[in-house]
Amino acid sequence: MTSASSADQRLLSDAHIKVRHSKVHGNGVFAARKIPAGARIIEYQGKRISEKQAEKRFGQDPDNPHHTFFFSLESGKLIDGGDDGNDARWINHSCEPNCEAQEEKGRVYISALRDIMRGEELNYDYGLVIDEKMSKALKKAYACRCGSEACRGTMLAVKKKKKKKAAKKADSARNRKAEGKGKAKAKDKPKSRDKKEKKKTDKKTDKKTDKQAA
Ligand SMILES: [Zn+2]
Repeated sequence: MTSASSADQRLLSDAHIKVRHSKVHGNGVFAARKIPAGARIIEYQGKRISEKQAEKRFGQDPDNPHHTFFFSLESGKLIDGGDDGNDARWINHSCEPNCEAQEEKGRVYISALRDIMRGEELNYDYGLVIDEKMSKALKKAYACRCGSEACRGTMLAVKKKKKKKAAKKADSARNRKAEGKGKAKAKDKPKSRDKKEKKKTDKKTDKKTDKQAA
């Protein structure tokens, strides 16, 4: 990871983003200054692991059995953002995202789909693809709280979509996220925090009942 991407496009500096509590879920990544459409914002870093390793790592947290920071690569390997990862792992999912994840030569970059104003939360469509059969419980476990008008209610990919695009970064964790706070530059508190916090607690309860879905 010494040289930057062989690609022509350079990454924006760290000064463009900051991590703080998100009203969508746990930590989020926010634009600290305007980010122009097309800009490559951050690389999704983490240890490269095989599918087998991923299986072993999956579900290790009994309170959050669906939580991982996995990102599926076209090769079948995965990036575990929870292992040697960076702030990219805090980017939340949205069904109507302002960013997208692009894979290039085995590396993944988060790029702006449109101009993003200072203070906006960054997000991309995880389009999670999982091997388990779709069920109500699963849908619930991967429930989406993005709040966009186009919200499909789940972070899981719609079947008809191209599977390759799948970012297998499963439900970002509550527990893990709390741990990550040390690293995160969590300085600002969003104003609507209290309101949403409540919502989050409700969901949490829902989720617990769904554990057997794992
Ligand atoms: Zn949504």
